[in-house]
Amino acid sequence: MEVRYRVRPTDPLEHRGRFSVELEGLSTSTVDLVLPSWVPGSYVIRNYSRGFRDFSARTVPEGKPLPVETVEKARWRVGTGGAARVRIDYTVYGHNLITEAFDLTEDHMFLNAALCLPYVDGELSSPVTVTLEIPPDWTVVTELEQVGAQPPQFRATNYDELVDSPIDAGHPIVLTVRPGGIPHRISLCGKGGNYEARALERDIGRIVEAAVAMVGESPLQRYTFFFHLTDARDGGLEHLSSASCVFERNIFRPDESYRRFLSLPAHEYLHLYNVKRIRPKVLWPFDYTHERYTRLLWWMEGTTDYLAYLLLRRAGLLTPAQFLDQRAGVVKQYLDTPGRNRISLEESSIITWVDHYQLFEESPNQSVSYYLKGDLVSMCLDLEIRHRSEARASLLDVLKLLWREHGRTGVGVEEDELLPTAERATGVDLGSFFERYVRGTEEVDFAAHARYAGLALGPKAKRPDERDRPEPGDLGVVVEEADGLARVRTSLAGRAGFAAGLTPGDEIVAINREKVTYAKLEKTLEGYPAGTPVELTVFRRGFLERVPLVTGTRPPAAYAFTPIDGAPELARKVYESWLGVPWSPPSGSA
Ligand SMILES: [Zn+2]
Repeated sequence: MEVRYRVRPTDPLEHRGRFSVELEGLSTSTVDLVLPSWVPGSYVIRNYSRGFRDFSARTVPEGKPLPVETVEKARWRVGTGGAARVRIDYTVYGHNLITEAFDLTEDHMFLNAALCLPYVDGELSSPVTVTLEIPPDWTVVTELEQVGAQPPQFRATNYDELVDSPIDAGHPIVLTVRPGGIPHRISLCGKGGNYEARALERDIGRIVEAAVAMVGESPLQRYTFFFHLTDARDGGLEHLSSASCVFERNIFRPDESYRRFLSLPAHEYLHLYNVKRIRPKVLWPFDYTHERYTRLLWWMEGTTDYLAYLLLRRAGLLTPAQFLDQRAGVVKQYLDTPGRNRISLEESSIITWVDHYQLFEESPNQSVSYYLKGDLVSMCLDLEIRHRSEARASLLDVLKLLWREHGRTGVGVEEDELLPTAERATGVDLGSFFERYVRGTEEVDFAAHARYAGLALGPKAKRPDERDRPEPGDLGVVVEEADGLARVRTSLAGRAGFAAGLTPGDEIVAINREKVTYAKLEKTLEGYPAGTPVELTVFRRGFLERVPLVTGTRPPAAYAFTPIDGAPELARKVYESWLGVPWSPPSGSA
């Protein structure tokens, strides 16, 4: 069957586009159109169909009207009346510029097929074309193969490829770099933005080169980074030969913010290897209507995160000190998560469908992100391999072997294949490591793994100007502002507030009968250092309550990795192989 989509951004002020699907080669009395409920790379059921309206169908070319019925939340059934060729028209509302989106404004359209182009049930492998009836001065950027110019028409060999190839149309600024001779486009959309084009080209080029060096080869003919500059939080979604990223438009300065920016394209670019081509076998073929369960997402996301920072170090975009500082920041975030040992990496991969994308008040107490823990466990695994192989092997050898056996061949990774592959790649027995930190929930011993690289991990020394500042007592709650008051969002397990029964939703109105506001809370707590008995007054479900509590000690504000004086030769070798610089003695700035 041939499936031909037409897209007309006719009502941009209403953010509504008109779509049609023409089907040729029908032989059944009914045909179902189905919209995905999730997209690969974003493992949560999202119900994209809410903006669909105005369905109609007719025969082609006669134009005889046909019945269309909504039979499920994202399934529309068309009675063909025996016709071999039919056309279905509908409209879609799209006004949400996130990483997977259908977004339509006056001068821009971003289209992820899963949100606006339903597939024909049973025909996921049929070839499709998409014709864009857009204003003549609009530019189209997509990795789909272009097969027509006026109006622009694109082709995908099947629906999976269509979903994995977003289309951007409007007036993007397109920069092109050619690391290793392979064209990489950076398509910038959105108003404003404090980026510097030359720096962007240079640094994206470095990211690409470092990624290819890590794996050893590139499978690409070309690639596109879609950068949408807006006022939203950063986010990215990987595709087969592109990545769509959303950034707060002024993320490009100052330097620290720019480094945070770089970590996203580095992560998404590594996905072209890890998850897009080295992929869990059970995900395929895709079922766009239901959850697909794999225990490997921690490797697909967490390891990709770790490798992205290692890549930035390799590319010279992070100094060794910046790299170690970034690592210490991730350790801090992890150690501050009370639920870090209540769930294994494999289990968090499975339950991501109800966990990672739908965090709620109790999440920090019962869960930990497989990005966060997966990143740190991957770092420790890397150090473990480097140490035990006497710096002859590393996690990159695991990546390379996965690439050769799975990425290059298209053979999916079995659920239990990671450990044996890692052992074959490195010659190191890693069974106990996986048992403890991947399948199990043992506390990760960062200090021991840091020592493998001649580094000590500990609380970061305070700067002289910080030393005299009073250390406020700790309530151990995450608060948010609510009508000027501090409202408890989460009461962190094991901390002072939790022990005293402070509960999500409590609005803290006074400490020792003195009024506190959200803005004043921190300052007020300076008067009650750790160990001070206090009485909190809170509104709990609208009723005034008194909560006696003893203030706690805050966890360290920051951690640091510092070189160990007299580190053994092997540790120095591991440090050098890991960071790619000569061992720097403790007096130096590591
Ligand atoms: Zn990712």
